[in-house]
Amino acid sequence: MLDEAKYIWQDGKLVAWEDAKVHILTHSLHYGNAAFEGTRAYKTTKGLAIFRLEDHTRRLLNSAKILSLKCPYSFDEINNAHIELLKANKDCYTSNVYIRPLIYLGYGVMGLYHANAPVNMMIAAWNWGAYLGDDGIENGIRVKTSSFVRNSVKSLMGKAKASANYLNSQMAKYEAVQCGFDEALLLDDNGFVAEGSGECFFIVRNGELITPPHDNSLESITQDTILKLAKDLGINVIERKITRDEVYISDEAFFTGTAAEVTPVRELDFRVIGSGKRGEMTKKIQDSFFDIVSGNNSKYKEFLTYID
Ligand code: PMP
Repeated sequence: MLDEAKYIWQDGKLVAWEDAKVHILTHSLHYGNAAFEGTRAYKTTKGLAIFRLEDHTRRLLNSAKILSLKCPYSFDEINNAHIELLKANKDCYTSNVYIRPLIYLGYGVMGLYHANAPVNMMIAAWNWGAYLGDDGIENGIRVKTSSFVRNSVKSLMGKAKASANYLNSQMAKYEAVQCGFDEALLLDDNGFVAEGSGECFFIVRNGELITPPHDNSLESITQDTILKLAKDLGINVIERKITRDEVYISDEAFFTGTAAEVTPVRELDFRVIGSGKRGEMTKKIQDSFFDIVSGNNSKYKEFLTYID
């Protein structure tokens, strides 16, 4: 169950958590056109800080543009709404926080032509620990190549973090978990690795870090952070296509994402990856990532928006 906070930001107002409701004929509930973000705020020595808030807001507004959703709020208004909400809920946050803004089509119009439906927005934020478990962060997770192909760019628009795109993710995740794995790895139309159900993917081979390009995956903010910190660590990074068999014979593999943070992958399709434990480079990247999000690396201090 969710660890409830006191307020949810709904259409410009702070509403009590239990009162933040929508009508049953909410357009997005029926047809799935909505744009959302997943953002985190971390406990730092200077208090709670939202990580890369402006980048998440930019991607949210880009998603809305792609989906033809006319967001009634500006970039600055959305950033300020996040801060207002976290300040109001401050006493509820005992650990790191996950933030979920959503731009959606509300009540008043039915049928597929969505342009006349009202556009609403909400932001909720609650205590949320490691998405793939503390043990996963430490010891790695077991992954299955999905029988579902990642949404084709010929049919859906992967640059948008669109609710509808996540039916594909949800089915892949369900299949993987029901089969006894922790997470799914989705391939693209051509059989190359696309991404996890909610994560980007990296492998390590011969001391080099390899990650697929964005042609069939979300433009991940965490992936961008990892690429920056890998450069700082003097790691050679290559953005190129990966096949599933290359993952089997890689030295290390890991998922990255706002929710998943940096989670080692210790097994894919019953093939043990490397030593079967969190790899050395993965650990180095993980440590460096947690330093940045916790405000312990001054080079990236502009990535943090402090809530005081
Ligand atoms: N791919 C998918 C499908 C995702 O849902 C996510 C999580 N937002 C990611 C990749 C990673 O993106 P980010 O690092 O921006 O959270």
